Amino acid sequence: MRGVAVLGSTGSIGVSTLAVLKRHPDRFRLVAITAGSNADRLAQQQAEWRPAFASLANGNGNGGTAGRAALLEAATHPDVDIVVNAVVGFAGLEATLAALWAGKRVALANKESLVTGGPLVERARLEGGGELVPVDSEHSAVLQCLSHAAAPCSRIILTASGGPFRDWEADRIATATVEQALCHPTWRMGSKISIDSATLANKALEVIEGHYLFGLPYDAIDVVVHPQSIVHGFVEFADGSVLAQLGYPTMELPILYALTHPERLGDAGVRRFDPVAAASLTFEPVRHEVFRAFALGLAAGRQGGLAPTAFNAANEVAVARFLANQLAFGRIAEIIETVLARFPGGPVSDLGDVQEADAWARAVAESLI
Ligand code: NAD
Ligand code: MG
Repeated sequence: MRGVAVLGSTGSIGVSTLAVLKRHPDRFRLVAITAGSNADRLAQQQAEWRPAFASLANGNGNGGTAGRAALLEAATHPDVDIVVNAVVGFAGLEATLAALWAGKRVALANKESLVTGGPLVERARLEGGGELVPVDSEHSAVLQCLSHAAAPCSRIILTASGGPFRDWEADRIATATVEQALCHPTWRMGSKISIDSATLANKALEVIEGHYLFGLPYDAIDVVVHPQSIVHGFVEFADGSVLAQLGYPTMELPILYALTHPERLGDAGVRRFDPVAAASLTFEPVRHEVFRAFALGLAAGRQGGLAPTAFNAANEVAVARFLANQLAFGRIAEIIETVLARFPGGPVSDLGDVQEADAWARAVAESLI
């Protein structure tokens, strides 16, 4: 029986996580839940699950320091073995660090933790004795392929659906509406990651996430567009052999795997795969010149240090403004580009550096809008 905390329990991944836990009451006990908003849903979850700890905790503002403290309390709760970090954005970083320092397993959906504080997360994992297991479907796919391998891999390939604008002309994409951008072809997700999937910034975040998770150089991480979202990731070995993980798009499988890795439980409640029904699986290159946010994110990753933190902050600000109808879709990448061009860079030595770079990039991004 393992105790679980779900940070961001009212969101897309949070709700899917509770659905997964519900199917395995003999294996998991829900100990703590937190949410940044949606008090009604949190109250419903509290009534249904009766967790030892529940809090409406916004790590950024609303809840102020009390909110941040609640996230950290849930992440380090003594009865918790596994922390599912399903908070969206930079607000999730401190909870990831705290959980790893406390020796917990972190089932990480909050990829922004690794993007903004990768070296700190790695240090917390090594010195705190915790474990880091990805929830992101592509990274779960890679981990599942690697878990059966006796040799290290030489390259990974992450798949991208291509988002709603995969085959649109650049001019049309620049003026896309919020509704169009939220209309993802294969996944139903929270609004921020849906916009990141439309700009392909999400795939840049995932490349950086993969770099830290699997300790691979950027030259060993490729991305391919795969509109059907059936193949979630590939792993290539030195001899040229390639393994892939497949399945219909559902987050419940990677969530369950993050809870049980390296074991597998009998029932993830997923639709069984039928290759004939899946029919054709197609692959195409990313249009780097059209999806500028992707190219900028990769460049920030390769630059390293605090550049990915600045990239992430600029993206979070631009996406929030786009969702509020205050910015054209095409301006998201422009804001990121200007922020990164002005960013002086620097190494990631401690959390203070990361918070400073994040705040700096947010302020510059806001000033540009
Ligand atoms: P969401 O917006 O649906 O949910 C986010 C949750 O975090 C909500 O419970 C919200 O109340 C809470 N939250 C938001 N801001 C907060 C703050 N400042 N402090 C504390 N709590 C806060 O988002 P989501 O789609 O579930 O995504 C969550 C994370 O998982 C993101 O990092 C995303 O990139 C990643 N992810 C999501 C999916 C998916 O299918 N939704 C897939 C892969 C990875
Ligand atoms: Mg993903």
